Amino acid sequence: MNVAILSIGDELIGGRIVDTNAAFLSSQVALLGGMTVLRMTVGDRRGDIVDALRRLSKHAEIVLVTGGLGPTPDDLTRWAAADLVDGGEVVDDSEAMECVRNWCSRVGLPPTEARTAVAQRPPSSQFMSNDCGTAPGIRMTYAGADMFMLPGPSTEMRSMWHRHVGPALEASAGLRRAPIEVIAAGLTEVQAADQLGSLLDRGSRPRLGIRVGRGLIRVSLEDPDGKVTAADMEKVHRKVRDLLSPWTLPEGSESLSEAVGEALQGRGWTMATAESCTGGGIGAAITAQPGSSVWYVGGWVTYTNEMKCRELGVPPELFHGSGPGAVSEEVVLAMAAGARAKSGANLAIAVSGIAGPNGGTESKPVGTVWVGLASCDSLEARLIRAPGDRDQVRAATIATALQWVRWRAEGINSFLQWEAKR
Ligand code: ATP
Repeated sequence: MNVAILSIGDELIGGRIVDTNAAFLSSQVALLGGMTVLRMTVGDRRGDIVDALRRLSKHAEIVLVTGGLGPTPDDLTRWAAADLVDGGEVVDDSEAMECVRNWCSRVGLPPTEARTAVAQRPPSSQFMSNDCGTAPGIRMTYAGADMFMLPGPSTEMRSMWHRHVGPALEASAGLRRAPIEVIAAGLTEVQAADQLGSLLDRGSRPRLGIRVGRGLIRVSLEDPDGKVTAADMEKVHRKVRDLLSPWTLPEGSESLSEAVGEALQGRGWTMATAESCTGGGIGAAITAQPGSSVWYVGGWVTYTNEMKCRELGVPPELFHGSGPGAVSEEVVLAMAAGARAKSGANLAIAVSGIAGPNGGTESKPVGTVWVGLASCDSLEARLIRAPGDRDQVRAATIATALQWVRWRAEGINSFLQWEAKR
């Protein structure tokens, strides 16, 4: 099922609003196993809308349209639709007209010509009812393409999608199974592409796509022409998971924190945090995960040297002139050991680093971060050199710390992302 999407509105092409409707529709189409092949945006001009609909009908069997169905003079979608299929003619829809009149009397407004215009449609089209507003949607066929026109406001558009369009497409022939997604954390897009090799070739089936966001790599497996058997799909799915191991998150996990929780609970372990340069970011990432109180006991944000000594028992001499200083192996080891002992958790992770933009030196440039991990039978530290600005260094530190905890609980001893050789 090939789908094209048309977003209508001067506000969109002028950059005053972001086209979230098209993103929503594309993602819903993908969930149904369909494929969005083209998206267009035009302003509030009748001729442009007609041209766009003609063009999109050549590329897709389904055309989804949002915007321009309201009662104001710049809402021209119904007239453009009428130009396309009925020579510009529109008719009053009696049911829709009754709804509009009822609505006007309920809110105490006169049923003016403009207000009742939303009850007009091209004669060869059908209306789709609108539960959240007054303008109904329009469904029609043009040049073999099934066209669904929805109002612009997101709540109305979404409700109409769930009530009318989604079920209609689900019932139609040619739907493919929904794509499978493999999520991995702790490697770059290029590394993931190297691991996957020729599976990423555009002609391969299932077709693989990689996208990156919020520190995660998402690999989707799609069957655009409906020719891949369920067994082959599953075989490639397993292969992708294996090739991306040990970075792959467990099936069903949507974030690294969720994977950490699963790994810790698998061992019956709890953890604590001792943070300097991340300022509580590791704790925040963990507690964003519902139910994390089962495995996360809490933590410390020890930003100054004094706090590190007082709260976690880091020896003060580590900070003296000849000592290694706050960003050092010795300090994160002491922080991790202190956090573990004071919290009573099975495992504690500690971080101290230079997030920048200031504070870097030749031997410890911005991005230098030490991570310490204390468990029942080990106390170790790793050095990472995270790239980027302050936000990126902090995000990389949080992800690396979580990955290490997860791997420690799973018994995996692998190189961490950005880890520097010593
Ligand atoms: P209305 O009855 O409100 O006039 P309409 O169908 O005519 O509905 P538009 O006038 O085109 O829709 O847009 C109304 C509002 O809907 C916009 O101001 C904007 O807030 C939102 N909207 C429209 N199109 C989009 C879009 N593609 N993405 C996100 N929001 C949108």
